[in-house]
Amino acid sequence: ANGRPQISASFRDVAIDGAPSEDGSPDQGGSTVSITVVGASGDLAKKKIFPALFALYYEDCLPEHFTVFGYARSKMSDEELRNMISLTLTCRIDQRENCSDKMEQFLKRCFYQSGQYNSEEGFSELDRKLKEKEAGKVPNRLFYLSIPPNIFVDVVRSASRTASSQDGWTRFIVEKPFGRDSESSGELTRNLKKYLAEEQIFRIDHYLGKELVENLSVLRFSNLVFEPLWSRNYIRNVQLIFSEDFGTEGRGGYFDNYGIIRDIMQNHLLQILALFAMETPVSLDAEDIRNEKVKVLRSMRRLRLEDVVVGQYKGHSKGGKTYPAYVDDPTVPSGSITPTFAAAALFIDNARWDGFRRVPGNLYGRRSVGGGSELDKATNELVLRVQPDEAIYLKINSKVPGLGMRLDSSDLNLLYSERYHAEIPDAYERLLLDAIEGERRLFIRSDELDAAWAIFTPVLADLEAKKVAPELYPYGSRGPVGAHYLAANYNVRWG
Ligand code: NDP
Repeated sequence: ANGRPQISASFRDVAIDGAPSEDGSPDQGGSTVSITVVGASGDLAKKKIFPALFALYYEDCLPEHFTVFGYARSKMSDEELRNMISLTLTCRIDQRENCSDKMEQFLKRCFYQSGQYNSEEGFSELDRKLKEKEAGKVPNRLFYLSIPPNIFVDVVRSASRTASSQDGWTRFIVEKPFGRDSESSGELTRNLKKYLAEEQIFRIDHYLGKELVENLSVLRFSNLVFEPLWSRNYIRNVQLIFSEDFGTEGRGGYFDNYGIIRDIMQNHLLQILALFAMETPVSLDAEDIRNEKVKVLRSMRRLRLEDVVVGQYKGHSKGGKTYPAYVDDPTVPSGSITPTFAAAALFIDNARWDGFRRVPGNLYGRRSVGGGSELDKATNELVLRVQPDEAIYLKINSKVPGLGMRLDSSDLNLLYSERYHAEIPDAYERLLLDAIEGERRLFIRSDELDAAWAIFTPVLADLEAKKVAPELYPYGSRGPVGAHYLAANYNVRWG
């Protein structure tokens, strides 16, 4: 629309769960979508969900008839909700254009209902208001649970009983954490499934909505040059690196309960690994892709204590500035041994990946000069930089111009900011749009979740039972030295 890039070519208004329109075909103009953000007063709702909904509206990706509701315990009028939301809406898509008109139109479609999370009354009242807005159209309802996990089941119970759509679909987006180990995750799944069918549960992992993560499959499966190399035969090792240059900054209470393995590795990084390592799916259909992800996750060895290094940042001073230790955060219990860093060696025991090989002989590797080691010069490195500064680049060896024979490592470079001038959508935009459209490819199925927890649960139990003390490393550094030793055990240079 308006010559701006579209996230999706068109909105497919198809009822997937619940009853479709009578002839089963897309309902033309007779349906409506209501999006209820449960926990609307919270941080995630303000920071990500409302802005993503506005961006979708701005790009004409939402259906013609839609309504947004906020639901939480806090008392607020519709107007107060609108004021709150308007503080975080930005015209990021097209800075030049004044989008205040669009903002105003969007805010007019936003309403608020206050209520308890375990209260059928609250959700019945919401149902009544939703019906008013739906005005006789086929109602489709999406609930986004932007709330602490201990109240997921309460909300699903109350909302599914009293505010489900009778004629259209009803879907629930659930945010991590999905439990803290295999057992609690299994219990959460069982409880959710008392009230919902698996097809109604959209477990979000917002990393899957990131542009580069989406591009990983395109890179693999639509470039003949890579796929034949994508195995133990030609790949020496794969490193997934997630680093942040800030501390918990007041979020220590939440974090301390989970630690970095649960917060980042078991979900975001493992999801990327699964997409990286899975076999070619039969099709791009969500079930085919998720089947392959489950297979590769189930082929992975359970992580052992000796293959993990945990660390925790300590305070230090640099350039006249003092950085606090993790345990200095007032929201962190004193003496906490929760890891803020972890490095783990993971193995996939299948025909494609079992047993990495050294790089086959390289004529030039043996006579490398110019500062790097032999290994550097004999290998290539393919880097997918998910964020920031999205990029894909391949480090290749090339001859330095001149009469001698000196090799140099240079990059075949796809830097997104240079190649693509369109704004990259936020992951939440992609995922919300997919949930509305019933596209499940980027959401986690329950068997995927089980397989992911099975890899990490034993080591988490060991770390906790043995009270393994994390290695301290300075705030802002790349982690403890133990990570290098772990990599060296497998003849890998880390980082
Ligand atoms: P908040 O802590 O801000 O909680 C959201 C809302 O839930 C609050 O505004 C509050 O609303 C209600 N609430 C908070 N604590 C309780 C409680 N103990 N009992 C009942 N209601 C409570 O959470 P976030 O917005 O930060 O996150 C929401 C979900 O998303 C969580 O599951 C979180 O783990 C997940 N998440 C968050 C991310 C983030 O960046 N913030 C990133 C990834 C995931 P009221 O009092 O008005 O009812």
